[in-house]
Amino acid sequence: MHEKCGVVGISLEDRDAARPLYYSLYALQHRGQESAGIVTHDGFQQYSHVEMGLVGDAFDPGDLEALNGSNGIGHVRYPTAGSVNACCAQPFSVSFKSGSLGLSHNGNLVNADEIGDELADLGHAFTSDGDTEVIAHDLARNLLEEDLVRAVKRTMNRIHGSYSLTIMHDETVLGVRDPEGNRPLCIGELEDGYVLASESAAIDTLDGELIRDVKPGELVVLHADGTGYDTYQLVEPENTAHCFFEHVYFARPDSTIDENLVYEVRRELGRKLWEESGVESDVVLPVPDSGRAFASGYAEAAQDDGSDIEFAEGLMKNRYVGRTFIMPTQDERERAVRLKLNPIKSTIEGKRVTIIDDSIVRGTTSTQLIQLLKDAGAEEVHVRIGAPPIVAPCYMGIDMASRDELIAGNQSVDEIRDEIEADSLSYLSIDAIAETLETSRTDLCLGCVTGEYPYDIEGEETDREVARPEIGTPSSPADD
Ligand code: SF4
Repeated sequence: MHEKCGVVGISLEDRDAARPLYYSLYALQHRGQESAGIVTHDGFQQYSHVEMGLVGDAFDPGDLEALNGSNGIGHVRYPTAGSVNACCAQPFSVSFKSGSLGLSHNGNLVNADEIGDELADLGHAFTSDGDTEVIAHDLARNLLEEDLVRAVKRTMNRIHGSYSLTIMHDETVLGVRDPEGNRPLCIGELEDGYVLASESAAIDTLDGELIRDVKPGELVVLHADGTGYDTYQLVEPENTAHCFFEHVYFARPDSTIDENLVYEVRRELGRKLWEESGVESDVVLPVPDSGRAFASGYAEAAQDDGSDIEFAEGLMKNRYVGRTFIMPTQDERERAVRLKLNPIKSTIEGKRVTIIDDSIVRGTTSTQLIQLLKDAGAEEVHVRIGAPPIVAPCYMGIDMASRDELIAGNQSVDEIRDEIEADSLSYLSIDAIAETLETSRTDLCLGCVTGEYPYDIEGEETDREVARPEIGTPSSPADD
């Protein structure tokens, strides 16, 4: 599974925004490794540098020096909609009659094709097949007729799907979160300005203070002189649809998302995993890295209950195996787990082992991992998962597998246990997640674990009353 993207926007009083943007993209690197980019504005013109690759490779000191201006936005991308090539790298930038526009998008629109077709009929020419360009063109069009806030509102009334956006219109930086709040976005204060970012860890990196999450349906406009910001609640949501997987897997544990510190959420989910399906064993091992907080919560709850279970690091991860590692044959692909993880025999040999992971997608890694532990001398291997089974794909900007590829797509938990050859297998319930996040199921996106989505997606069920906006006639002031 891959998120997706990370976005950031910064307005400063009296220094260039390029370096702070660069540092915050570093903090968000886990959200996308395919491309990185920054767009700035100095009050006169826009500057842009967007490259394929990791943040550290995409910029050299000269690139940063050339990005003038104290306002800017940035983006790291793992492609979800649009091709894997430079034309879809972001921020997307465009100049039009009433100024320049830059856009960074995290999420995925489900009606981008309809809007794109309509705009193409009206004469708009697209340079990519990504949904971000569709938003940019729609907004550019609305800006010809409306002020900034009304133009954003008009575009929000037309786009359907998940989006956290940082936008730059000339030198003004904006942040927008979709009415369901599916993807995260927060605002923070720096000594000499303000910052919008996908995760608060980016604000921490700049020695800033997290102010709060951007509310679902809210627009935040940073003052171009770095002295403040204005907010506009453009859409009042009935229910939100926060992606619970941000807390389970995607976000950094040191980030606070929707008022919850991710690390503490994962520990609490681990505790609940013990309460719901704890199994006696000698040692509990996290699957690094994201299983670590779950496993420590699980072990703590077990010990509170009087269990002798020991928490140990039994699997060492090779941090240098990247996504681009070349494995030409299936046999070699199956060895991938040996390259990524190596067991510490002394914590495993002759023991009943419980491993804690955040999810099982295709099941290949779990199968290999269990074999690895048995080869290392484990007497029993129990598997506990800190999320419900993934039964359906994600359409909201997470690169998952298709239904057919998902191990839980059409198998029961017992069948999965047999396939991965675990001694026992349990997943966490949806209720445990809602309880931990102190929210109700109706305010979460649960699409991938229920097959019912919070958006109107062709051919899929919804878990609420939603309908995509009617597209086909150009928007009018009546839409506002
Ligand atoms: S379908 Fe799953 S991964 Fe996608 S947004 Fe919803 S909860 Fe998150």
